Amino acid sequence: MRCPICGSENITSQAVTETHTKAKTKGFGWFKACFGFLLFNIPGVLCGLCGMGKERRTTTTKTRVLHICQNCGNQW
Ligand SMILES: [Zn+2]
Repeated sequence: MRCPICGSENITSQAVTETHTKAKTKGFGWFKACFGFLLFNIPGVLCGLCGMGKERRTTTTKTRVLHICQNCGNQW
């Protein structure tokens, strides 16, 4: 592995966790409630009911590897 900027091989790799939050506004869906029930039992149904007509947030967590050049400080 080489730095694309300076060509140094003195690279540190690091796992970075990125969290993305998406806001969705949706009506109550029975399918979703049933799905929630299957997944989480009662709390899933409650979530479905509470989320009726309200903004719902979906959080996605991604892990990617960040490379840091020890020579010039470039990150990619
Ligand atoms: Zn570099």
